[in-house]
Amino acid sequence: MNDFRPETRPETRAVHLPQPIIEGSRPITVPIYQTSGFVFDDPAVMADAMGRPDGAYVYGRYTNPTVRSLEQAVSGLEGGVAGIATGSGMGAINTVLLGLLKPGDHLVAQSSLYGGTAAMLNELVGRFGITVTYVPGDDPGALRAAVRPETRLVYLETISNPMTLVADLPGMCAAAAELGILSVVDNTFATPMLCRPIEHGADIVVHSTTKYLSGHTDVVGGLAVFADNATYERVWHFAIELGASADPFAAWLTLRGLQTLALRMERHCSNARLLATRLAEHPAVDAVHWPGLASHPSYELAGKLLSGFGGVFAFDLAGGRAAGERFMSSVRLALLAPSLGGVETLVLHPATTSHRSLSPEELRRSGIGEGTVRIAVGIEHPEDLWSDLAQALA
Ligand SMILES: *Cc1c(COP(=O)(O)O)cnc(C)c1O
Repeated sequence: MNDFRPETRPETRAVHLPQPIIEGSRPITVPIYQTSGFVFDDPAVMADAMGRPDGAYVYGRYTNPTVRSLEQAVSGLEGGVAGIATGSGMGAINTVLLGLLKPGDHLVAQSSLYGGTAAMLNELVGRFGITVTYVPGDDPGALRAAVRPETRLVYLETISNPMTLVADLPGMCAAAAELGILSVVDNTFATPMLCRPIEHGADIVVHSTTKYLSGHTDVVGGLAVFADNATYERVWHFAIELGASADPFAAWLTLRGLQTLALRMERHCSNARLLATRLAEHPAVDAVHWPGLASHPSYELAGKLLSGFGGVFAFDLAGGRAAGERFMSSVRLALLAPSLGGVETLVLHPATTSHRSLSPEELRRSGIGEGTVRIAVGIEHPEDLWSDLAQALA
């Protein structure tokens, strides 16, 4: 412990607590540094720390030792040079987009984006004078054709929600690099266990750590990982102003989840394979959209790019909207809930929930039908899950 100021009165000693200074051993796990700021002995060190991302710890909005541990862990898994942890996945996406774009800029985005991202891009168009062109995520030719002198970014998702289309990361990122544009990839659905976009040429990877990385449905968080230091520093300077920072306890929960990510992903993927295969043979089901099935349009690309086909997929009930609603109220083990990537199996009916703001035409364009169900497969025993789905289909 540091000195306990024995010369002071009780009122003062109660405020200035003894601080642990650990020598001769160290904690096994990363402790939660629940402090909003840090004390300096030297004003010059403090001044220096406020201006750069790799100085001493200074203030919780910049980073914190627990948060930094998470930033380095995920950056290391993705093969990046540094990361910025945020309070949500949207926080990470907005930190990157707002940190890199200015009015008049153009970006090319993959069609059928995560709903929050799609809504944010509409904001950028409506209020910030930024323009967006949508192209399929597996069409580098369409990307080349869409690029203009003022194009700054291409925005992709490794696996799309809920139709699980896989982006051609090598083709799209190579085209972007040739044209001098940064590529940003949302790798939430794949996680670095199934795909590491930086290895395929991405400049920035974003995550909703709310999902698989934390994995236990108990925390909201996000993270951006950078392939190079210059882009990281550019975004870092904006990030500390934006203030979308991660909380140390949320970072700690995410670190704890991360330790079992590899095991969980294996089980999510093998459970999804069993359910997708059996659903595809079920008479009440018209189609199953899981990239591990040979019938899926991304099957071949997924086989090359991913080391597993993921735990989220969609299937179309033959009975349309009524069947979708009936299914939702009949599942017992699978939970009717938003989000994904946790240990529990969750189901939702996009047409009446996550995608309810889309017109019938927009729904059709994103491939979502009235009877489409999205399932985020958990890590339960697969036969228990199948029994539940089978009784709900009956
Ligand atoms: C959930 C999600 C987000 C948004 O993350 P939040 O943590 O909810 O802010 C972004 N992208 C994808 C692919 C997601 O699934």
